[in-house]
Amino acid sequence: MFEILRRDGMARIGKFTTTSGRSIETPTLLPVINPKIKTVTPRELYDEFGFGAIITNSYIIKNTPALNEEARAKGLHEMLDFPGVIMTDSGTFQSHMYGEVEMTNREIVEFQRAIGTDIGTVLDIFTEPFWTEQQTADSIVETLKRTEEAVSLKGEMMINGVVQGSVYPNLRKDCAEKMAKMDIDVHPIGGVVPLMEQYRYAELVDVIMSSKMGLNPNRPVHLFGAGHPMILAFATLMGCDLFDSASYAKFAKDDRMMFIDGSFRLAEMQSLDCNCPACRGITLEALKKTTKNERIKILSRHNLFAIKNELALVRRYLREGRLWELAELRCRAHPAMLDGLRRLRDYQAFMEKFDPISRDGAIFYTGIETRGRPVFKRYADRIMTRYVPLTKKAAIFYGEQNKPYSRHFVEEFANARRQGYTPVILCPWGPVPAELDEMYPLAQSLFPAIEDTDTTNESEELTLDFLETMFEETVNGSELEMKEGEDIPEEQLDLERAKAVSRYQFGIEATDALFRGTIELRKSKRTGKIRNVISDGEHVLSMRAGDGFYTLRLEGARRILAAVPAPHMRMAVTDDSVPFVSNGRNAMCQFTTACDEDLVPMDEVIVVDKDDNAVATGRMLLVASEIFSMKKGIAVKIRSGSEED
Ligand SMILES: [Zn+2]
Repeated sequence: MFEILRRDGMARIGKFTTTSGRSIETPTLLPVINPKIKTVTPRELYDEFGFGAIITNSYIIKNTPALNEEARAKGLHEMLDFPGVIMTDSGTFQSHMYGEVEMTNREIVEFQRAIGTDIGTVLDIFTEPFWTEQQTADSIVETLKRTEEAVSLKGEMMINGVVQGSVYPNLRKDCAEKMAKMDIDVHPIGGVVPLMEQYRYAELVDVIMSSKMGLNPNRPVHLFGAGHPMILAFATLMGCDLFDSASYAKFAKDDRMMFIDGSFRLAEMQSLDCNCPACRGITLEALKKTTKNERIKILSRHNLFAIKNELALVRRYLREGRLWELAELRCRAHPAMLDGLRRLRDYQAFMEKFDPISRDGAIFYTGIETRGRPVFKRYADRIMTRYVPLTKKAAIFYGEQNKPYSRHFVEEFANARRQGYTPVILCPWGPVPAELDEMYPLAQSLFPAIEDTDTTNESEELTLDFLETMFEETVNGSELEMKEGEDIPEEQLDLERAKAVSRYQFGIEATDALFRGTIELRKSKRTGKIRNVISDGEHVLSMRAGDGFYTLRLEGARRILAAVPAPHMRMAVTDDSVPFVSNGRNAMCQFTTACDEDLVPMDEVIVVDKDDNAVATGRMLLVASEIFSMKKGIAVKIRSGSEED
């Protein structure tokens, strides 16, 4: 069972519970345990490092008589002395590297089940990046056949259905779609180690994203063989939930240390300024003089601490809604990773469907790759389709650093308006009509004062397109002559601001319904900002101070339902759950019957019954495709129900 608790980008914090009742919080990493050589014991991994899950190789256990016997007699958890989740690998990699493995898929799946593995793995076929498309496609047919067999044999054990497909995005997506339809519990993305070893990160992004497009969002995604701390933030951002690392021990044997910016050979290092518990108090010279065994122990532990620290940081950034910033920073550790980040922009439209409408903190621009975030696409799309110009003439102003613009350009804007011009600011987001300048992401973002060429070019191009579409005439605001005259009343400007935000957030039709009749705007006495929208005596909207967006009141919801056809902004629930939701209980995935596919996380949503009557309003936590594949969990956090009125 997989439940999504928090999200950011494509990333999620989830709770994954195995059939055996053990659970782990994702994203997490499973250290690989060689059952023959336990460099760090499973008990230490659990107690000291806090790893709640490990992975070990069932093929080695099966082929080592003593281990085989012990595992069958005691079970895997007792044998390894590990109380957490144990995943086993099937020998696919051994088979691939060292030739034929003398066993069948059936044998290894049944063995994994017999020794009490929490999550077992199919004997799938590893696909290499140099394989032809045909060779890859043929091997996937076999992998799918074996996966079907494994599903029929799994019993109480959970099973990994490995997505293969080499570097062919269409094969990856197709394989993922077929895996998604089977009764599988976890989706590893396989065959990626060669890509990482060869620094082919752009292709790694293609592999991950094309797999994600086909997979069932209800299952955790495991990036098989990815365990270097430098990749964790980026891969988590793309929606990978599980990772594993054998390299912490392999590197240690090789006298290599993992750091957040790469791996380094002890012999080539100039100093060891590491403050992790394994290295504390040791100099590089002293470390080099230790015995081989002692050194392996220290370096393994150092590598594990490097992983553990980065994982903690990834989770913190994810919770704070700032994972993009961390991933962008990490991708600067190596030019090949920067390639990966740049390639990710190709998936901007796909990612936009999962990207929350707003977040708590401000967006920090870290470089031109930031423009690849889905929020840039969303702003560009909505400003072109949901903005309604106030006049036919625009006056352009410059100066990103002068936020909020309406408070900086007070005289200039007033003068432009007196002459029938609508003030529009050219900023890194593109065009910002003055009415929108307090709304997310415009006010809640920080850019460097010294602009880069990409930002200049892209924002200018978008602004030109916008001006041409929306206005008949454009002038440079700073060249407008100062003219005396009647100012546009403040009430009217407030109303235009209130409507512009509503159109951006809910669409033009919904806004017409919300702002019908006599409108009264209540403003905060302290900040002067709009707080409540009262339409014909009904309180329909409240504006949030943080992101400048609205929360939708039930009275407002009823107007949208009457004016805009389904499914716009709606999620329908079963008759049974109507009384609960109208009482303010959250709307659950399993009781949802229909949902607007355009809604994104944190969007305002109207929960309706089967006859399209408003039951409650709330905020989306998931998107439609997730809601329908989830077995449990909250789909909408309910704010106000009809019972409260
Ligand atoms: Zn260290």
